[in-house]
This record gives sequence, structure tokens and C-alpha cells, in this order.
Amino acid sequence: MTETQKPRLTVIAGPTAVGKGTVVRALLEKYPHVYLSVSATTRSPREGEVNGVHYHFLTHEEFDAAIERNEFLEWATVHKVNKYGTLKAPIEVALAEGKPAILEIDLAGVRQVKEHMPDARFVFIAPPSWDELVNRLRGRGTESEEEMARRLQTARTELDAQAEFDHVVINDEVDRTVSELAELLELA
Ligand code: 5GP
Repeated sequence: MTETQKPRLTVIAGPTAVGKGTVVRALLEKYPHVYLSVSATTRSPREGEVNGVHYHFLTHEEFDAAIERNEFLEWATVHKVNKYGTLKAPIEVALAEGKPAILEIDLAGVRQVKEHMPDARFVFIAPPSWDELVNRLRGRGTESEEEMARRLQTARTELDAQAEFDHVVINDEVDRTVSELAELLELA
């Protein structure tokens, strides 16, 4: 990044189990100055997830109060069950400090950010194939059959919306995907 360039917000989306989390974690390990937004959610923590690190885990009442206070850049009900949202303040602080910032959110959230921040960069992470996506979701083994069906239904809709993004990156191999992302984000 040259001195005249302002840090940008990059919004990353992609279907469930495509490996967004793994790719983003690997990117942050390589480029620790990048700020990753910690979303708020009403979903329960999975094993190993830490409050304030993976998500801010809120009750429905706490989440709704934050909506009332206009604290979210965007929020959405994802997979028809839980609310997820991006808090405005930490992103504004990171960008003001000169750090590139990343959000990892769903399609409804992407559309809201596009409205408020059209200068952001929008990146879609795609699976090499539909079958591979189903395998990765089954392999994770953290969701019930009902929850998996719901997530796959959402995934179909998300894959159909790829054209709304500035870039599509196929997550075929984590290291390669991270390199491609780093170039797109002008980190490399
Ligand atoms: P998970 O429950 O697997 O952690 O996340 C489910 C989905 O919620 C992911 O596809 C992710 O993109 C989306 N998500 C996570 N955080 C946010 C957020 O802050 N806003 C929106 N709109 N979606 C989010």
C-alpha cells in the first residue's frame, strides 16, 4: 500500500462450509495488521468458540437493543434462525488507524454494506464444485441433518449471486486461495 492510499474495507462472503473461516484465519496469520471484524450473533457457541474472539454471543434481547441503538453497519437473520451483525464502531476505528479491515458476512449483509459503503471491495469465495461443498459440510459434522439442509438451501441462493461481487475466488487449496486474496487486497 502506498502512503496516499487509504485502507479499504473488504467484504468476504461465500456459502456455508466453503472454508471462508480457514482462509481468513490463514490470511490474518500472514498479515497480522489486517483487522477482522468480530460479528455479534444470537447463535450458541460451537465447541471451542470464545466470546469476543469468534463472535460476540448475545441474547436475542441484547441483539435487538443494539439494533435499536443503531450500532450495526448491517445485520441479518441467517439460515432463517439466528441474527448476525457487524458493529460499526470497531471498523471505523480500524480504518482510522490505517488498517485494512475485513468483514465475513452473508449475502443480505453484503447488500446492506454495498448501500452504505459502495467503495468497499466485495469478494465471493466459491467452492470448486457443488459436490465438494456438500462433502465439506458433511465432513465438518457440527450441524444436524435439518440444519444442513437449511444451510445447503442458503448456499444455492448465495452461489447464484456471485455476479454481484467484484471478485470470485475459488477455494481449491488454502495456501493458493490466501495468496490470491492477499493480491486482491493489495497486501502482497
Ligand atoms: P456460522 O453460524 O457458520 O458461524 O455463520 C453462518 C453465516 O453467518 C456465515 O455464512 C457468515 O457469513 C454469516 N455471518 C457471520 N457474521 C455475520 C455478520 O456479522 N453479518 C451477516 N449478515 N452475516 C454474518
